This record gives sequence, structure tokens and C-alpha cells, in this order.
Amino acid sequence: MKEMEVQEYVRKRKGELKEEAKTFLAAPTLAIVQVGHNPASDSYIRGKMKDALEVGFQAKLFWYEESIKEEELIRAVLEVSKDKNIDGIIVQLPLPKHISESKIQSVIPLEKDVDGFALGSSYLPCTPKGILMYLKEEGVELDGKNAVILGRSKIVGKPMADLLLKENMNVTILHSHTSLEDEKFYLSHADVVVAAIGKMHLLDERFTFRKDAVLVDVGINRGEDGKLHGDILPGRPVRLQTPVPKGVGLLTRLALMENLLEAAKRRRK
Ligand code: NAD
Repeated sequence: MKEMEVQEYVRKRKGELKEEAKTFLAAPTLAIVQVGHNPASDSYIRGKMKDALEVGFQAKLFWYEESIKEEELIRAVLEVSKDKNIDGIIVQLPLPKHISESKIQSVIPLEKDVDGFALGSSYLPCTPKGILMYLKEEGVELDGKNAVILGRSKIVGKPMADLLLKENMNVTILHSHTSLEDEKFYLSHADVVVAAIGKMHLLDERFTFRKDAVLVDVGINRGEDGKLHGDILPGRPVRLQTPVPKGVGLLTRLALMENLLEAAKRRRK
């Protein structure tokens, strides 16, 4: 069975997206809404704008002062939503405390919600979508196999479980109330593990995995060394383990471009 590094897969798929972009008269266009400055958000936005440029899409940043009132931001997002040249809109989180994230996100029309966060969104949430596309590209067998997902968040754990169930996997979700003994038990039987916890190297030598298991590490944790680390200790003796960084983060970014392309196709139908 072939195995492709995440980076290699993302490079290949971006090349294909670039070819698709050429078939559009006006490039698929993403609007990024940002309030204030937060170093992590600034860096994520730079990444998204770079991705868009690389595949021949457009990304426009709509930036507002930290002091903007909730009603003003709602009006601004509504205005962006109406723009006929915009195919997809994302609101960079977190927003300042005086603004309700869910209120702002609810203003985005479902057909432009390319982050896929809203209930009933026309798109799949980017992280689970990117992971599933990669697993399929890798030829990982899913039907009837055991998936163990750690974490039950709305943006990763739960939608990941839904997607893998649709692939006919036997899906188990573990979370903060799962005992260590149960965690060890379920993980030792898993064919595919998706760790989305946010605790550095929580899955360490205490756990045994099947030799042919595939470990997908979603976690992003800043270590005392100032570098980013995953939820899984690197180098587990398994078939495939995605790295952190340059693993799921790249897949999430790629999936945003996939969703934007989908949005552009729908609008031009
Ligand atoms: P969250 O922070 O909302 O929730 C964490 C989840 O982990 C909870 O559901 C909790 O029940 C569970 N959990 C806590 N301790 C656990 C344990 N011992 N065993 C099993 N589960 C446990 O989660 P989130 O927003 O999904 O983020 C999770 C991690 O993934 C964070 O590090 C985040 O930065 C990262 N993340 C990465 C990407 C990416 O593109 N790489 C995208 C989204 C989130």
C-alpha cells in the first residue's frame, strides 16, 4: 500500500486546485473577517491568504478595530455577505469577549459558510474533511474497521465521528471522563485513531497500538521549548502517524480551499 507524506499530498492536491481555478472567469474569492490582532490569528490568516494565492484563488481581509461593537460587526458581516464577488466567508476566532462568536457566525449565509461550522452549513467542517480526504488518498481501509476518536468538540471530535460513521466504521468517542483503563482498552483495538484533545503527548508509551494502526494527531500544543507538539508522542510503532506541525494543520487549510472551490462552483451554476 502506498503512503504519502501529508505535505506531499497537500502539494499534489493544491496543484490540481490550481488547474481548476484556471477554468473560472473570476477567481473563487474568500473573505476573512478579523477583529483586532492576536499573534496566532495573524499567523493563521497569513497562512490562509498564502494558500489562496498559491492555488490561484483570491482572499480579501476585512479588518475591524478591537473596540467595534457587536451590532456594528453584525452589520459589517451582513454587508460582506451580500457582496456578489465573495464566494465564502470565514470569521477568524477568537473574537473579543464583548462579541458573541455564535451571533456573528449565524449571520453568514449557509452557502458561504466555508468553515462549515454552522448547523446546516452547505460544507463539511475543514479539519474532519481534510483528515477524511487524506485517509482515503492513503488507501486506509475504513469500512467495518474500528475508529477511536479522542475529544468531542463541535468542530473536530463530533463531526469526525459523523464522517467516519458514514464510511461504515465502528466509531468510539473517548473524552475527559473516560478512565485511563478504558482509554488503553479502546486504543489497543483501534485501526484508526484521531486525537483531538489539546494535551501534549498524552498518548505516550503507556498505550499500545496495533502495528497496522493509523494515528491522526490533531492536537496543537506549545511546549516549554516554544515549539508546537501534538497529542501523541512521536515515533509510535504503527503503520502511519501524522506529524505536528505539518500534519493535520495543512489538511485543515487545504479543506478550506476545497470548500471555497465548492462554493464558487455552486454560485456559478
Ligand atoms: P476542545 O479544546 O474543545 O476539547 C478538547 C476535548 O478533549 C474535549 O472534548 C475533552 O472531553 C477531550 N479530552 C480531554 N481530556 C481527554 C482525555 N484524557 N482523553 C480523551 N479526551 C479528552 O477541542 P478542539 O477544539 O477539538 O481542539 C483539540 C485540539 O486540536 C487542540 O489542541 C486544538 O488546538 C487542536 N486543533 C487543531 C486543528 C488543526 O487544524 N490542526 C484544528 C482544530 C483544533
